[in-house]
This record gives sequence, structure tokens and C-alpha cells, in this order.
Amino acid sequence: MTHKGSCHCGQIKFEVEGTFDTAMECNCSHCSRKGYLLWFVPRTQFTLQTPAASIGVYTFNKHAIKHHFCPKCGCAPFGFGASRGAEMAAVNVRCLEGVELADIKRQFVDGRSF
Ligand SMILES: [Zn+2]
Repeated sequence: MTHKGSCHCGQIKFEVEGTFDTAMECNCSHCSRKGYLLWFVPRTQFTLQTPAASIGVYTFNKHAIKHHFCPKCGCAPFGFGASRGAEMAAVNVRCLEGVELADIKRQFVDGRSF
């Protein structure tokens, strides 16, 4: 199925192909502050519908993941990175339409200890 996602103000819009029932919740300094609930998909399943120039990008630590955020409303709906050579998108399921957060299983990751 196709999930529609956006930031709060709508400046960032995207679509993601696939299904999920679990999202990653990480306790690292960055994920915990932003409240990310992440679903990882191959980059090819992710379609950005917004010009890249209108999106802010934040990196830290090894700068391996490009965390995208809206400069206007502050939402951080997704990031791009690579895992074992494959381009991936990390989608913040909080920014998808029609997702019942209470129904999503949480896979806790102890990123703070890495
Ligand atoms: Zn926005």
C-alpha cells in the first residue's frame, strides 16, 4: 500500500510504498529529543514530492544519516542513509496519514549506549 506523509505545515510531502506494524524507538540524544518512531524502507520505495531546496538537513556524529526537517514548522518526517551498501529511507511514522500510533509495536533500540 501507499502511505502519504507530510510535515505539519505541508511544505514537505512524500509517499512510501509498503506495510509495517513495527517502528523503531531509539533512546539516543537525537531520536529521543525528536520523538522519532522510525520505519526503514529501501530508498526506491520512497518518493519525495517536494523540492529538496525547501527542506533542511541535519547530520551529526558520523554524518551517515541525513535527517530531513521542515524549516517552517520544525517537523522531522524522514532521513536518508545507507545500510550495508543499500540506500535506505528512515520514515518517521508519526508523520504518516492514518497511522494509529497505539497499534504500532515499538522495537526499542539502545542507541544511547552505542
Ligand atoms: Zn512544515
